Formats: sequence, structure tokens, C-alpha cells
Amino acid sequence: MNNSKNESVGCIVNECKFHSMGENYCTLNKIQVTKHETTAKDVQCTDCGSFVKR
Ligand code: SF4
Repeated sequence: MNNSKNESVGCIVNECKFHSMGENYCTLNKIQVTKHETTAKDVQCTDCGSFVKR
């Protein structure tokens, strides 16, 4: 899947089925970034909502 990496979306979550592996990129054309607090106060409040376990 390395050939289809999206260089606009860096990602280190290699447990995800959409990770390019080998290089730290996502392979999706579009991801949804989400928050799990009503009001996001810091980076820990945000997540990738497109994650799917490999
Ligand atoms: S879907 Fe999200 S978690 Fe998965 S590789 Fe892409 S950016 Fe990373």
C-alpha cells in the first residue's frame, strides 16, 4: 500500500489498516478528525475517526 500514501496526511498509527506501513502516512484520500470532549482543550482531546484496526 506504500504507493497510495497520501503525503498530506502524516500518521504514525501503524495499527490502522489504512496506514501505509514503512512510511508514516495514511493511504486514505480523506480522513475525519474527531474530538472526544465537548470542547477540545488540547491535542489529547482529538482523534482520527477513520481508524480501523488492522
Ligand atoms: S485512518 Fe487515521 S489512524 Fe488510520 S492511517 Fe489514516 S490517519 Fe492514521
